[in-house]
Amino acid sequence: SQGIEAGDPDLFAAMKDELHRQQHEIELIASENIVSRAVLEAQGSVLTNKYAEGYPGRRYYGGCEHVDVVEQLAIDRARELFGCGFANVQPNSGSQANQAVLMALSKPGDTILGMSLDAGGHLTHGAKPNLSGRWFNAVQYGLDNETGLIDYDQVEALAQETRPVIIVAGGSAYSRRIDFERFRRIANAVGAYLWVDMAHFAGLVATGLHPSPFPHAHVATSTTHKTLRGPRGGLVLTNDADIAKKINSAIFPGLQGGPLMHVIAGKAVAFKEALQPAYKDYMKAVAENARILAETVREGGLDIVSGGTDTHLMLVDLRPKMLTGKASEAALGRAGITCNKNGVPSDPQKPAITSGIRLGTPAATTRGFGPAEFREVGRLIVEVLDGLKAANSEEGNAAVEARVKEKVLALTARFPIYPSL
Ligand code: PLP
Repeated sequence: SQGIEAGDPDLFAAMKDELHRQQHEIELIASENIVSRAVLEAQGSVLTNKYAEGYPGRRYYGGCEHVDVVEQLAIDRARELFGCGFANVQPNSGSQANQAVLMALSKPGDTILGMSLDAGGHLTHGAKPNLSGRWFNAVQYGLDNETGLIDYDQVEALAQETRPVIIVAGGSAYSRRIDFERFRRIANAVGAYLWVDMAHFAGLVATGLHPSPFPHAHVATSTTHKTLRGPRGGLVLTNDADIAKKINSAIFPGLQGGPLMHVIAGKAVAFKEALQPAYKDYMKAVAENARILAETVREGGLDIVSGGTDTHLMLVDLRPKMLTGKASEAALGRAGITCNKNGVPSDPQKPAITSGIRLGTPAATTRGFGPAEFREVGRLIVEVLDGLKAANSEEGNAAVEARVKEKVLALTARFPIYPSL
């Protein structure tokens, strides 16, 4: 049968354009990465054809002997990577991993306590439009306005006042280490489960560069496509056999049907890669590059929420230059630098506008950028934003953006990705 190029030229053209975009822009979206050829191969394999409801050795379909091997490899590697007794590698996404925790450990109407979206939490931690906010009594904590750090006293007071059944720690735009021990003490005092969502910093945990959620968390979830550099998907971990059983039932048959075996194969590949010494070097570089990028944009007159970063990401406060996240994201995009607008604590702007941008280093570090390149990237960001401010128009500053785009093209040409695709 025909391949995509001959059989579906419209689709092929869009795919080719996306490859070109990834090859020639600087990716600073903190939740993205660039997977290996082996991960791509696993995902584009015949494993996509197979139904395998159930778990290895306990399936509801015949012919599962080979996909059982695939899933067991993914499970064993995940357990080794996080030093953990139990792993479920079937969640189709980070959100479904999170829904599984809610389904396993609570019921609709229960109180849950999580970080609010505008403080850097995730939608699935109790935000109003999300299932977690609509079907649960979601109470939300925030950051200390002075320090930009989690307000642990507020978490404790809200826990005492509202008696949640689950407390969630972890977020999407929080750049500092989280005190899991303190969270567990707060949870213990009110009889709540502690759930850590390490979707963003899982790669740092896997390499010992960030404290592990364990032994403090009852359960931890993650995505597999951010710092972990695997396929899009989710993961649930626990050391508690009872919780493990409930999580398995929540994923299947609770929330999902047939697992995506090609994606699980991609997870197995990524976990194996993450167990190699080279991955630890990579994660060290990710964190060091983030520190350098934060320092450089600060030197250029911008603020970083909490003053810096301990991880792979940072939240840039644009208010010193009186710019919005929306206009800045667009201007940087025109210059070939991709990032996303993000609210900052007590943001005066609406969520669709914001006063901040979130920057992360995992993807560009994968393509080989080191400290010198990230210093240059930081300076280019400042150049674009100063140009935007001088132009004093949402249209931006075409001359500056074109100049920076040339430099972006030169940088990306020095560090090619997917040269044979
Ligand atoms: N949890 C956190 C902390 C996240 O940042 C994200 C994604 O950004 C998710 C969960 C959800 O992952 P997914 O987009 O795969 O549903």
